[in-house]
Amino acid sequence: MSRVIVIGAGVVGLSCALRLQHAGHQVDVLARDLPLETTSAVAAAIWYPYRAFPYERVTGWSAASYHEFERLAKEPDTGVRMIEGTEVHRTRTADPWWRSAVPALTRVTTMPAPFADAWSFRAPLVEMPVYLRWLAAQVVEHGGSITRMALTALPDQGEVVVNASGLGARLMAGDHSVMPVRGQVLYVEQFGLDRWWLDSPGPTYVVPRSKDVVVGGSDEEGDWSRTPDPAQAERILQRASVLVPELARARVLRHKVGLRPARPRVRLEEEQVSGSGTAERIIHCYGHGGAGVTLSWGCADEVASLVGPA
Ligand SMILES: Cc1cc2nc3c(=O)[nH]c(=O)nc-3n(C[C@H](O)[C@H](O)[C@H](O)COP(=O)(O)OP(=O)(O)OC[C@H]3O[C@@H](n4cnc5c(N)ncnc54)[C@H](O)[C@@H]3O)c2cc1C
Repeated sequence: MSRVIVIGAGVVGLSCALRLQHAGHQVDVLARDLPLETTSAVAAAIWYPYRAFPYERVTGWSAASYHEFERLAKEPDTGVRMIEGTEVHRTRTADPWWRSAVPALTRVTTMPAPFADAWSFRAPLVEMPVYLRWLAAQVVEHGGSITRMALTALPDQGEVVVNASGLGARLMAGDHSVMPVRGQVLYVEQFGLDRWWLDSPGPTYVVPRSKDVVVGGSDEEGDWSRTPDPAQAERILQRASVLVPELARARVLRHKVGLRPARPRVRLEEEQVSGSGTAERIIHCYGHGGAGVTLSWGCADEVASLVGPA
């Protein structure tokens, strides 16, 4: 059995850890932020390929994750559900580039103004606090560990290191092409909403969960501020109320901001390492932008196949 160290306890690191354990590896996760403190915990989280590149690979990873989430939705403890929802458009719009990743996409021809087009599909909705707790418990149950540790560089010991540090890859891999794309959301009390809505300006989304509804959002490139902006929250709520009018009267519970780890393309590759002072093998898996949940299982499968059998 080989030992793998995974850096990062967000959705990407934990999914990789679990897949590697299934392949027979002993896995230890090291992370500055524990699962519920990560960007992943702020994700809405709807399965949707957004702000992640390149399209061709993202479509494949998204399709793989869709199937895995469909399977996980059969287990209530996971916090994953398959929910029908609608994406609206103000002009006639061609099928999305990721069309092949979902089994069915239905055109909606009856949308009222200002919308001219829309499509509906069943998407995995992932209630992140529940799901991250479940993932972390799975990692521990399979003999792994999750330890808080803020690193200044990738560990120089161990047979294999998987770098799933998200935005932290700026430091961990010296990669300044990873940039924050700030996203603000607010949570309102659940009022009986049972489908999701999505609109591109903003982007605007409304995602129902068991006890609350996530309302988003924003995407400020290069903005490092984690402080919610009250004026922005007001604008988000106004935009979202066009999709779901009940939101205008809903009780606001709290506000949050997360920094998406964006990159011109997801980095999923083995780095060729040489010399002392480095681990024997380093596999990078970061830069998932606005789709880390959506890509998580597809990428974890690929990381496990790069690492190989135990
Ligand atoms: C408002 C918002 C809404 C979103 N909605 C969705 C959605 O609906 N669907 C979707 O698919 N995606 C969504 N996303 C995107 C998604 O949240 C990210 O793509 C995803 O969380 C990235 O996961 P990650 O594991 O790579 O990074 P993170 O969750 O950021 O985890 C990185 C880990 O690396 C650790 N780390 C970093 N630096 C160090 C260091 N120096 N030492 C040790 N550990 C370190 C961190 O502590 C953390 O544990 C949303 C994001 C935001 C902000």
